[in-house]
Amino acid sequence: MSFKINKLLVITSGGDAPGMNAVIRAVVRTAIYEGIEIYGCRMGYQGIVEQEPFLLDSHFVSNCIQRGGTILQSARYEKFKEKTTRDQARAKLAQYNIDAMVVLGGDGSFRGATLLEREGGPRVIGVPCTIDNDIAGTEYTIGFNTARNTAVNAIDKIRDTAFSHNRNFLVEVMGRASGFLAVDVGIAGGAEFILIPEIPLSIDDLAARIAMNKAHNTKLGSIIVVAEADNPGHSFAIAEQLQQRLHEEYKVCVLGHTQRGGTPSVEDRKIGSLMGARAVHALQQGQTQKMLVIKQGQLLLADFPDPTAVARQFSDMELLKINKILCNV
Ligand code: ADP
Repeated sequence: MSFKINKLLVITSGGDAPGMNAVIRAVVRTAIYEGIEIYGCRMGYQGIVEQEPFLLDSHFVSNCIQRGGTILQSARYEKFKEKTTRDQARAKLAQYNIDAMVVLGGDGSFRGATLLEREGGPRVIGVPCTIDNDIAGTEYTIGFNTARNTAVNAIDKIRDTAFSHNRNFLVEVMGRASGFLAVDVGIAGGAEFILIPEIPLSIDDLAARIAMNKAHNTKLGSIIVVAEADNPGHSFAIAEQLQQRLHEEYKVCVLGHTQRGGTPSVEDRKIGSLMGARAVHALQQGQTQKMLVIKQGQLLLADFPDPTAVARQFSDMELLKINKILCNV
């Protein structure tokens, strides 16, 4: 079943992620190629309610593919969880005759879009964008690859000083509910331990393991990668507790928002471009309430994550086992 789209809206919602611009560019240019009027709104759902959609042209997305962030800007807008606010958004979109939307964001943004459509709003296709790579149903999200590289570059720099001064470091990376970023960054950065929310480890156990490692290797300084979990900055408390138990200093470096910005990687630009183009074609093919996903290397369409489901969890224990061998022999 095909669906004739006359006016399409593209927005970015929730946390920004490098590569979003490649997606926006692909959506805009594919829409223009297909003869669809393409609109944008700044600041995600907040922009729909508080501002006006504006017509985009090919020039709007010129020279943006290499830029981090999102040229459409993004926002967290809690009021969108209220039906009265969504009613205002729906009325605004109806006023502009918008009949379909491409939403770049995470599962929260997809939940908002689903409710909007069920209440009579436009059709929607999502493009999963988050550096955490924690959206259920896809093995890849836009921004993850760039953030990994950014964090590993930072660790390489920290490693130089750790080695020179024989220092121990805790490097905190993002990852609200999952350890995907921490594990990849930890392995690529040669971290001695990787602490992720999926595998809680008490400070006493961690201290015991560090002591055990130190007893049989002669490393100069060490790096422990810590996922921020839902408590950004908690590495400072971990460092203090380790210091008390091991009588050694642990320096802390919280990478924070540096991981969200910067030049998008080839992977994020390429997959972002493919997902953006496919999002428009999926809408034309009559699809809605679906997102682009990567599964076993294939670009596919899948249902939005179940709104009651938790974020995707890291579960590849083999990876952690290998890291244990590589860093502790
Ligand atoms: P992400 O999309 O990255 O998961 P959030 O969870 O912060 O990020 O969601 C982004 C935005 O999506 C929210 O600020 C809100 O505007 C909208 N949203 C999230 N959850 C819902 C919901 N349950 N109902 C309606 N809108 C929602």
